[in-house]
Order: sequence, then C-alpha cells, then structure tokens
Amino acid sequence: MNVVKGFATTFKHLLEKKVTIQYPEEERQLRERFKGRHVLKRYDNGLEKCIGCSLCAAACPADAIWVEAAENTDEERYSPGERYAKTYEINMLRCIFCGYCEDACPTEAIVLEHEFRLSFTDRRDAIYTKDMLLTPTPPDVEGTPRETEPGVYTRSIPQMEDPA
Ligand code: SF4
Ligand code: SF4
Repeated sequence: MNVVKGFATTFKHLLEKKVTIQYPEEERQLRERFKGRHVLKRYDNGLEKCIGCSLCAAACPADAIWVEAAENTDEERYSPGERYAKTYEINMLRCIFCGYCEDACPTEAIVLEHEFRLSFTDRRDAIYTKDMLLTPTPPDVEGTPRETEPGVYTRSIPQMEDPA
C-alpha cells in the first residue's frame, strides 16, 4: 500500500511545473528586498558616507564586522564630519545576511545589495576589506582622501545631506 502511495506522490509531482532552473545558464529574478553582498556607499561628491561610528558592528549578531575609525583632517578628508573608517572589514563566513548592520547605520553607508556570488577557496578571502566594499568614485569626481577647504564640513554626524 505504501508503494502505491509513493508512486502516486511521484506521478503527481511529475505533472507539476518544475521549480528548478539550469543555473548558471538561467538566473532567477531577485526580489527587490533580497539581501546580498554589502557595499559601502559614497555621496555624489565622492566622499565616503561611512563615519566609522561602529554602530553596524555593535548591531551585528554574528560579530562579523570590524571597524577602526580615524580622524579626518582638511588636508586628508575621507568623509564629511569628524571621523572616517580607517579599517572596515566584514567576515563573509560569519555573516548571516540579516541586514541589521544596514538598519543600524546612521548615514546609510552600508547597504546589502544583490550580489550573491560569494565563493572562496581560502578562509582569508572571506574577509572583505574596505577597498573591496567601497563603491567606485563617480565619474569626474575626486576620490578620497582629498584636501578640502577648512570649515566646509561640520564636526557633527551628517544627516543624509552633504554640505558640498
Ligand atoms: S548582514 Fe547581519 S550578520 Fe551580516 S554583517 Fe550585517 S549585521 Fe552582521
Ligand atoms: S557603516 Fe554606518 S554604522 Fe558602520 S561604521 Fe560606517 S557609518 Fe557607522
């Protein structure tokens, strides 16, 4: 009797629309809210949004983020405000892609985008550094660090608006 039930289940599913696809030749359309690999954003003027506050690291339940902050100066400026992330690393082997880091960020610097092709043959390759995470500087815009006019940038955490 169990054999008949088993065959019945098999034949029922044979007639259903298949759910598998031939990846990588075929790719599934990702949902808008899909959380893939992180990026560190810049403002339109090329300055980095990250201010090295470590709130993302504090919010991370997997202890996957390491941030080391340093002081901006007008001669060597990375971000608006007082500090920037001198070191920013995410251990992708620990990350569970929950998005808590994105929610905790006061400047919308860290964002989980749609890249999901993460594979490593060495554990050390799973550590994504700031250089790997930072988005490219927009065209015709100076990168970071750069020299800026004294007093243009306030010493407070920028609210979404950049003064430049
Ligand atoms: S997505 Fe979640 S687990 Fe991954 S770094 Fe952000 S807070 Fe940590
Ligand atoms: S990514 Fe956001 S929360 Fe994390 S250190 Fe930078 S500014 Fe702070």
